[in-house]
Amino acid sequence: MQLNEQMQEENIDSENLVQKLRMQLNGIDDRLVATLAERHKLSCEIIEAKIDSGLAVEDFERERAILDRLEREYTGVADPKLFRAIYNAIFTSAKNKYKPKEAFYDVRRLINAKPLIIAGPCTVESYDQINSLAEKLSEMGVLFMRGGAYKPRTSPYDFQGLGVEGLDLLLDAACTRGMYTVTEILDAEALEENYDKIDVIQIGSRNMSAYGFLKQVGKFTRDDNKPVILKRGFSATITELLNAGEYIINEGNPNVVFCLRGIRTFEQIDSKFRNTPDLAAILELKDRTDKPVIFDPSHAAGDSKYVLPLAKAALNLGADGLMIEVHDNPEDALVDGRQAVSTADFEEFLKNEIL
Ligand code: PEP
Ligand code: MN
Repeated sequence: MQLNEQMQEENIDSENLVQKLRMQLNGIDDRLVATLAERHKLSCEIIEAKIDSGLAVEDFERERAILDRLEREYTGVADPKLFRAIYNAIFTSAKNKYKPKEAFYDVRRLINAKPLIIAGPCTVESYDQINSLAEKLSEMGVLFMRGGAYKPRTSPYDFQGLGVEGLDLLLDAACTRGMYTVTEILDAEALEENYDKIDVIQIGSRNMSAYGFLKQVGKFTRDDNKPVILKRGFSATITELLNAGEYIINEGNPNVVFCLRGIRTFEQIDSKFRNTPDLAAILELKDRTDKPVIFDPSHAAGDSKYVLPLAKAALNLGADGLMIEVHDNPEDALVDGRQAVSTADFEEFLKNEIL
């Protein structure tokens, strides 16, 4: 029945109707929360039974099967994006309760055997873009997927990223394939709102000196020691970078990863490089800190043809890992397409240099 017809039939004014509908909504919310609590209890029982019998807690195949079934049966009833987002939050909340802190959050352990490889698009653009890329990256064995949802654009009129929606897309794409999410957060409010969706927090070059924010990040992460990648400010000295890291560490989270990404020098007057690749700083940082040091050749180069040679050089100089922008169709990328490495080139690089 149309709203107007209902109002006429029941002879009620719009204010009363809103009240009446709200009461119905409250009833639905109560049932929804009770059902969610029941589901959570049951999945905790399953996880505990798995732990008792030595089985793996994660079962991405099953999660994917649940989502696929819901999508098959309920598309048309509700937007698949909506229930995918809801279910990812449900899956994550039960698993987070049992996540072994050391195994997950000790970045050092993760990079012991091999360099830490973080790959993905500059920016999350759409469901199709992020899922197609996630599928390929997971097949290549990449464990950490990057994707910008909140973009620090130089101009406020440029595309700013998809925000929460972008983060949900990244989480869905990465999590269902057993990958961890790496994304930049620009302020404490967004961090609080999205905390559980982010496995590795990225602080960008432009925020390296936002000391108040760094302290807040340190406070937020001190209970679980979630890894924080701190990128070098493009005009910051090495000492300033190390000090910025201390702002986080001093709040109680030792899991800081320093990321070099090129700096501004006089070369930018006429160089083809977006920044001057600060490769030598890898040597110095490795001497001056025991924290992992990774290199981002994408923002250092600004041009895909220089990215992989720089990546190789960074590993040769002792970098503990790389963060690289990869895209299925670099020419169509909404942000930083010029510096995006194609999936095929990236796969070749991994085969030759990492595996
Ligand atoms: C990024 O990695 O998405 C990014 C914006 O890099 P930077 O902060 O180094 O400019
Ligand atoms: Mn970028």
